Amino acid sequence: MKLIQKPIVIVGAGFAGMTVALNLKNLNPSLPILVVDSVSKFIFKPLMYEVLSKEIRIWEAAPKFANIFSDAGITFLKNRLTKISFKENTLEFSDELKLSYQYLVICTGSIPNSYLIKGVEENCYFFNDLNDLNKLKSFLKESQKTSVQKKLFIVGGGPSGIELACKIKDIFLEQFEIHIIEKSNEILNKNTIFNREEAEKSLKKRKINVLLNSKVEEVSETKISISSQGQKTSLDKDIVIWTAGVKPNLSYLETDQIIKKYGRILVNKKLQIENINNCFAIGDISIISGLEDLPITAQVAMQEGNHLAKNIGLLIQGKDPLPFEFKDNGEMISLGIGEASISALGVTLSGKLAFEVRRIIYTSKLPDINESLKSASSWIFQKKSIFTKFLKTDNFN
Ligand SMILES: Cc1cc2nc3c(=O)[nH]c(=O)nc-3n(C[C@H](O)[C@H](O)[C@H](O)COP(=O)(O)OP(=O)(O)OC[C@H]3O[C@@H](n4cnc5c(N)ncnc54)[C@H](O)[C@@H]3O)c2cc1C
Repeated sequence: MKLIQKPIVIVGAGFAGMTVALNLKNLNPSLPILVVDSVSKFIFKPLMYEVLSKEIRIWEAAPKFANIFSDAGITFLKNRLTKISFKENTLEFSDELKLSYQYLVICTGSIPNSYLIKGVEENCYFFNDLNDLNKLKSFLKESQKTSVQKKLFIVGGGPSGIELACKIKDIFLEQFEIHIIEKSNEILNKNTIFNREEAEKSLKKRKINVLLNSKVEEVSETKISISSQGQKTSLDKDIVIWTAGVKPNLSYLETDQIIKKYGRILVNKKLQIENINNCFAIGDISIISGLEDLPITAQVAMQEGNHLAKNIGLLIQGKDPLPFEFKDNGEMISLGIGEASISALGVTLSGKLAFEVRRIIYTSKLPDINESLKSASSWIFQKKSIFTKFLKTDNFN
C-alpha cells in the first residue's frame, strides 16, 4: 500500500464506525486512523434490554472507546462534529478544533423521530442510547417506591417496542399496566412471520395490551391522545416510551450540502457520497443508490463497515473500489427475560434456547467482551451443533 499523509478520519464509532476502523487497522497497521465520537462509550444497542433487566451488566454492553481503540493501536478523540467542508477536506468540532482528512467516513447513526407530534420531545422517554437507558432505568426504579399500578404506554410495535414491553413486564410484573400503540394493522410488520407470531404469543402470555391502527396525536404531562378509525381518545398515562421511528443524525450538515434520499445521505454502491470520492457515509445515516430497501440495522451497518475497509484499502493502492452486496443473515428478537425468537439461515428457534443463541451471537460481536460472560456461555458452544451454523463468523454482521 502507498503511504498517505493526512489521516483517515472516522466520525461516529458505533457499529459502522467501529467495524471500519478495526478492519482498516487489521488490513494495514501503519495507516493513520483517527476515530472521533461525541461520547466516551460504545453501546451495544441490541443488548440494552438485557442491561435494563440486569441480565447483562452495563460495563459489559458499554465498553469505553479509549480502551477498545488503544488496544487496537487506533487514535480516539472524544469530540462532536459540527461542520464539514467537503471542498477543503476539513472538519470542525464543538470545541473549535479544525482537522484535515485524506479520507472521511461519517457514520453518526440515528436519533428518535418524533414526527413533530405535539408534546413527544418534552413528555416521552426514549430508548436509543446510553443516556436514554439511564433515564428510563431511574424512572422505573423510582416507580417501585409506591405499590400503585402505573400506566405505561409504548409507542411503536416494531422490535424495540415489543422487546421493551416484554422485558419491563418480566422485571416489574404487575407494577405497570402496559399498552403498545401501533399505527399499522399488525406488530413487527417488517419482520418474519415466525418472529411476529412468537412475539404475539409472548405479548398475550404477559397480558400486554396492543392497540393496532392507532395513531398518537399528542402527549401531555398526564395524558396521551390517540386517534383510531376516526375516533379520538385521551387516556391517563404515567409514562410514554417513544420507539416509533428514527431519523438520521446529521446536524453537522448544511442544507443542500449533499444529495439526500428519504432524509438520508445518498451513496453509490461503493459507499462513496455522490460526487465526493474520498468521503463515505455508512450505517443508519446513509442510503445506497439501487439498494434503498435495506433495513436500518446493526447487521447492515457492520457489513458496510467491513466492505468499506476493503474499499479504502483498494483506493489507497490506486485500485477501483468494489460494489457493496448485502447478505441477509436473519433476525433475532428478545422476548422477555430468558426468551427470544430467531429466524435465520432457514432455521427458526424460540424460547430459552433462542435466548441463549442470541446472547452468544451478540457476545461474540461485543468489541471488548468480558471473559466471564464468554465462559459462562461456552458450554453451549461445545454441546449444540446448531450453534455452529448460527455462529459462522459473518453471521449477524
Ligand atoms: C434499542 C435498540 C435495539 C436494537 N436492536 C437491534 C438488533 O437486534 N439488531 C440489529 O441489527 N439492529 C438493532 N438496532 C439498530 C442498530 O443498533 C443500529 O442500526 C446501529 O446502531 C447503526 O449503527 P451506526 O454505526 O450507523 O450508528 P450507531 O451505532 O448509533 O453509532 C453512531 C455513533 O455516532 C456518534 N455520533 C453521533 N453524532 C456525532 C457527532 N456529531 N460527532 C461525533 N460523533 C457522533 C454517536 O455517539 C454514536 O456512537 C437496535 C437499535 C436500538 C436503539
